[in-house]
This record gives sequence, C-alpha cells and structure tokens, in this order.
Amino acid sequence: MKVAVFSAKPYDQEFLTAVNQKYGHELKFFIPSLDSQTVALAEGSEAVCVFVNDRLDRKIIETLSQQGIKLIALRCAGYNNVDLDAAQELGITVVRVPAYSPYAVAEHAIALILTLNRKIHRAYYRVREGNFALNGLLGFDLHGRTVGIIGTGKIGRIAGKILHGFGCHLLAYDLYPNSEFGEQYGEYVRLEELLAQSDIISLHCPLTPETYHLIDDRAIALMKSGVMLVNTSRGGLVDTKAVIQGLKSRQIGHLALDVYEQESDMFFEDLSEEIIQDDVFERLLTFPNVIITGHQAFFTADALNNIAETTLSNITAIALHQSCSNTVSK
Ligand code: NAD
Repeated sequence: MKVAVFSAKPYDQEFLTAVNQKYGHELKFFIPSLDSQTVALAEGSEAVCVFVNDRLDRKIIETLSQQGIKLIALRCAGYNNVDLDAAQELGITVVRVPAYSPYAVAEHAIALILTLNRKIHRAYYRVREGNFALNGLLGFDLHGRTVGIIGTGKIGRIAGKILHGFGCHLLAYDLYPNSEFGEQYGEYVRLEELLAQSDIISLHCPLTPETYHLIDDRAIALMKSGVMLVNTSRGGLVDTKAVIQGLKSRQIGHLALDVYEQESDMFFEDLSEEIIQDDVFERLLTFPNVIITGHQAFFTADALNNIAETTLSNITAIALHQSCSNTVSK
C-alpha cells in the first residue's frame, strides 16, 4: 500500500523502515503533523499513518476521502483525535495499536513518582554545582502509602503491580473492574473514595467525553491535602487551571505530567529557541513541586518496534481485505 506517514520523526522512520523490510509497503515520510495545512501531502496515497497529535477532524477526513484515502492507521492506542463518525460515513477504515508496551508507560509513571518524591531532578543539578545540602529534598517512604489507580486496564494494572511491590496499599477505580487485580493487588472503591483516601493518584483511563476534566475543582477539593497527582494518560483528563489553583493552595503537593491538554502545539518539537506562548503551561513550570515530560512515557525501543510491527501488519491486513482485530469502530 502507498502510505503517507505523518509526524514521522527520525526514530519513527528508523523503526518503520526496518520492520517494513518484510512487509514491502511504499512509505512516504512527512515530519510535520497532519492538519489542514499539511493534508495535501497525502495526495496519491491510499492510507495515512498518524500519531497522537495529528488532527483527524471531520474536515480533514473529508479532504482525505476526496484524495482517495481508504485507511487511517494510528500508531497509538488512543483515538480521541479521530472523528470516527466522519470516517465511518466516508467508508474510511481506522486501525490502531492497542498495546505496544504497557510496561513502558507504567514504568514511566513510576519513574515520575520516584523522581518527584525524592526530588531527583533537583538533586541532579545541585550535586553538579557542588551543592550537597539536603534542605528542600525531603521525600517520603512509598512503602505503606495509599495509591489510587484510576483506570485498571493494561497500563494501570502494571503500574499497580509495581507499586504493590513497593509495599503500597492500592485503591482502584474503573468502570469495568478487573476481578483478578481486585483480589490480588487492590481494592475497587468509588471514585470519590479513591480521591479522598489516596496519597498518590495515577491516571490510566482513556480520554472520552465522560473522562474529560475528570480532575477538576470538585475532584481536587475531595483529595487529601498534599496529594501527589500523576497523569501519563491524556492531557484532557486534567483541568490544568484547576490544578494550578490546587498547587497554589497546596491542596496538591506534587504534580507529574507526561501529557498536557494543549500539548499538540508544543510536544515532540524542539522549541528551545522559541518564545512559548502558552501562559498556563509556563505557569506550571514555575512550581518547584511539578515535573513535566513531553509525552515520552511510551518512548522505549521495545515500544517503537512493537508500534512499527503492529501498524504495518494492520495495514497489510486491510490491503489484503482480511479482518483486522485492531480496527476501531464506534
Ligand atoms: P486500556 O484500554 O487497557 O485500559 C483503560 C482502562 O480505563 C479500562 O480498564 C477501562 O475500563 C477504563 N476506563 C474507561 N473509561 C473509564 C472511566 N470513565 N473511568 C474509569 N476507568 C475508565 O488502556 P491502556 O493501554 O491501559 O492505556 C490507558 C491510557 O494510557 C490510554 O487511553 C492512553 O490515553 C494512555 N497512553 C499514554 C501513553 C503515553 O506515552 N503517555 C502511551 C500509551 C497510552
């Protein structure tokens, strides 16, 4: 198949090219993300291959359809950036990579918790400058703390199991509780109870209309004073302005983000020579108890290899008119 690959960073190109040796698709790589400015680049292709911050709203899907695009191959699990109604109406198949390395994301969430708690990000610079003072680096034992996992799918369960290994007490909330996880690792409770009892809250549910701003003023008010909030899932789960108020009042004691509501304008790009225009994001960076990574939780060699493998096998199945279990439907 002729495939226009958007948001194709050098590392994507490397892994897709290597895995494509055995599939033989015609891949055209474009570094920019897919939007109204770049959609014309898909002309002449049969499929587009996209990632988390490519825009696939109705207008763009209509343009893709006019260009003869028959397939949208997501290189990610989440599909909140795709207008599925529009794709279905226009007969465009959407496929995704449901799991590429849940370990990568879960382990990153744990790395953020440990870094933020033990202030490794601050200690690193202090020691390099010859400052060996410990003031301001005080952490707490994870052992014995209560951690709330919101969303106990593939990633949430792995994060929970790791934290269980640290000796944490786990509370879990999910629309569809997992009985094995509940019996062996954590106790399923109502969302309000999880919010009220957890010392650390880690978000692992998808972004849907129901979970948009799940963490808002009301949810923050229910939390323990000084709570640690970790979001490695999707930026839209958290109302950033509410979280800033929570940090200012010290209701939120620590915040770790790998994802951000308005990340599509910034993340995955080198903007170190630019003036960042997002004042809300810049305010977040001023807090000493906030750590942000730029949507890198998935970013391991294992995950990139799995993404390339599943994406190209999805494309092959659709090209051969075979059924594909990774097809996304409404
Ligand atoms: P999954 O589908 O295995 O699990 C999601 C869980 O959330 C399911 O158990 C589901 O029942 C639950 N859920 C759905 N709606 C809910 C709600 N309203 N309240 C509570 N729980 C709800 O997905 P996964 O593979 O574990 O991934 C979880 C999320 O992680 C993805 O949706 C994606 O947004 C995010 N993610 C982030 C990165 C990254 O690099 N930061 C990478 C991959 C995935």
